[in-house]
Amino acid sequence: MDINRHSTLDQVAAAIEKAKTESAHPAEYFNFRIELAKSAALAWKEASPLASASGLPDDLALKLAAGNVVLKPEKLEIGEEWAAGRAADTTGIFARHGMAFGEALSAFVADKGGAPVAGWIRMLLKRDRKGLAKEARTFDMQGSMLAFFAAEVARPVMVRTAEALRPALDEERWKRGNCLVCGSDPCFSKYEGEGGARYLLCMACGTIWKFQRIHCPFCGCTDGKKHGFMSYDDDPSYRIDHCGECKRYMKALDLRGKLAQERVLEAEDAMTLYLDLAAEKKGFKR
Ligand SMILES: [Zn+2]
Ligand SMILES: [Zn+2]
Repeated sequence: MDINRHSTLDQVAAAIEKAKTESAHPAEYFNFRIELAKSAALAWKEASPLASASGLPDDLALKLAAGNVVLKPEKLEIGEEWAAGRAADTTGIFARHGMAFGEALSAFVADKGGAPVAGWIRMLLKRDRKGLAKEARTFDMQGSMLAFFAAEVARPVMVRTAEALRPALDEERWKRGNCLVCGSDPCFSKYEGEGGARYLLCMACGTIWKFQRIHCPFCGCTDGKKHGFMSYDDDPSYRIDHCGECKRYMKALDLRGKLAQERVLEAEDAMTLYLDLAAEKKGFKR
């Protein structure tokens, strides 16, 4: 079994559509995420990777062992015209689905073009949450929402790039809290196999990598006494891991003891808004 099985962006969109028909939760939220997923899948068809496996340095394994991610955000050539086009499509989806900041963001992008958008993508890859929060205030948005927006804009090209690099990488060995390909935070996780190995999913490029069972991916806290989890009574295959040190949480699929589960991990974040609401109610943040 390929434990890190990846899905195409078309498969991700189809999985969210299927979840909508089977869910007791409001259709509107699914509609928003379905539109985003379809837009990303369409743009993926036109996107070119920003790096290739043949262009990787000979000492990549050493660099990764030292904690360096493959793509350096400051050197990444994110096309500004491309970013402006993607941002216009994405702000349109935000605005159509009633996000109050969608209009302001849309007007800003129309006025300023792709340069600030490329800047937000770099902040996302560098996990510069303070920088994103500062930028987000202009639009009366949460920093985490601007990070989500930047990830949606970047997704087609980041997924293309990760796909091009994947053959040269060993995702089992990285074991750090951020993505080994692009540096971003994870947005979802899973526990799988007999021993319950823990895997994280990158919020930008969709890479899946192995992580320490009990560490916090966000602040690196290794004190097990500060970590806890919530289970979700309506569907015991989900859990929410949380950290008392940084007060952040991570949604997870618990697939232990379930063989050959056909789940599209990349669709799970979009399918589980109710888990975010449950975590936020307990005072944890994304
Ligand atoms: Zn990534
Ligand atoms: Zn933490």
